[in-house]
Amino acid sequence: MVKICCIGAGYVGGPTMAVIALKCPTIEVAVVDISVPKILAWNSDQLPIYEPGLDEVVKQCRGKNLFFSTDVERHVSEADIIFVSVNTPTKTRGLGAGKAADLTYWESAARMIADVSKTDKIVVEKSTVPVKTAEAIEKILTHNSKGIKYQILSNPEFLAEGTAIKDLFNPDRVLIGGRETPDGLKAIQALKSVYAQWVPEERILTTNLWSAELSKLAANAFLAQRISSINAMSALCEATGADVSQVSHAVGKDTRIGPKFLNASVGFGGSCFQKDILNLIYICECNGLNEVAGYWKQVIKVNDYQKNRFVNRVVSSMFNTVSGKKIAILGFAFKKDTGDTRETPAIDVCKGLLGDKAKLSVYDPQVTEDQIQRDLSMNKFDWDHPIHLQPVSPTAAKEVSFAWDPYEATKDAHGVCILTEWDEFKTLDFQRIFKQMQKPAFVFDGRNVVDVQKLREIGFIVYSIGKPLDP
Ligand code: NAD
Repeated sequence: MVKICCIGAGYVGGPTMAVIALKCPTIEVAVVDISVPKILAWNSDQLPIYEPGLDEVVKQCRGKNLFFSTDVERHVSEADIIFVSVNTPTKTRGLGAGKAADLTYWESAARMIADVSKTDKIVVEKSTVPVKTAEAIEKILTHNSKGIKYQILSNPEFLAEGTAIKDLFNPDRVLIGGRETPDGLKAIQALKSVYAQWVPEERILTTNLWSAELSKLAANAFLAQRISSINAMSALCEATGADVSQVSHAVGKDTRIGPKFLNASVGFGGSCFQKDILNLIYICECNGLNEVAGYWKQVIKVNDYQKNRFVNRVVSSMFNTVSGKKIAILGFAFKKDTGDTRETPAIDVCKGLLGDKAKLSVYDPQVTEDQIQRDLSMNKFDWDHPIHLQPVSPTAAKEVSFAWDPYEATKDAHGVCILTEWDEFKTLDFQRIFKQMQKPAFVFDGRNVVDVQKLREIGFIVYSIGKPLDP
């Protein structure tokens, strides 16, 4: 029986390995992590992450050919194929601070693999890493390797949170990069045969190592760039009376452009887009490509601009101050169908409003009070000027309360900000909400989910990103 071990039981390692176990019943899959609470959760009925369809997949395989464990070394030493899916955040200090990827977790995983391995291994980069990481990993693994052979493959993950299981069942493509040597090609073939159990042959792409590593950064940069492009357009729509939904529909009808990822919003978030673009910028700068770096910087700058623009719109609409006013925040996760709040635009919007002394009542169906308090109390790293921006002060943090439903959040509120596109926000009883709010009652839709006309008829003053302003 082929044995796979995945180091890192997070948003990527957990779902990816669960799907491999489901689709390949003859493979034994162990997912290992240094976090005891996380592994306990993976072995319980309360999984550590919310992802539609994940519970069912895990339930079907757990204990049969899928195991979650903290016994990292044993599972690594027994595995034929080791995926490394540890976090690769942005460095916060030292060389490359604010841009370069922090490979501390990766390096320690590689050193541990080198220490405990007794047989040849295929080591797969599942984490998103800078181009040429495989070269460094190879050095760590093969130095004093006691005759053990390692083949490094790059197999970046393209799943999107919220649709991870769907994406893993039916990926647009699986990318495998490896060395073009006989052993390298054999390793590529071994990994390919795992995916080939359910992914059609023509969707499994093989490339050299560096192309695979760079493709992941490039894909995320392109996706984020589309969001910044439509968000930049949304500002122009508001200034001219055009409607961004109509513009994106018209633009997306061009088959060369396509309709996906053209929704204007308060900005992109998540743990990947900003981090991966910063990484790309750093690699460009290291290679003396400053003009190219500047191009990608602009994608992040527009994203920051969009979040600021939203906060300014809220404050200016509410007679230039939100001091002492209750504002309901509907949605805190960075997108719908996930409880992930990493780099969510809600953090910046809430901090901006608290900076003007608003009182916030936050509701999100998948985010806990602790998560919100933790996110708001964290430092934000300013990538352009490597200094730490202030977290929300303890006094301001007291102005944030947690609501169990949207009606509790909006009771006596002066304004409502919709920051995540949860489906349930589309069917809210806005008549009821209007009745219980202070007047004039404002709705600021950062995700274009509400029917603006209908809300205006109820009596709300409505601002929706990129839409004509209230008459
Ligand atoms: P995560 O933080 O959810 O999970 C990483 C896990 O690795 C953590 O549980 C951590 O405890 C564990 N870990 C760290 N060092 C370890 C070690 N030495 N031994 C054992 N476990 C260790 O991160 P994630 O969101 O799953 O992302 C992982 C990688 O995948 C990142 O490089 C990310 O950029 C990339 N990626 C993420 C997504 C996404 O949507 N989240 C999508 C594609 C790619």
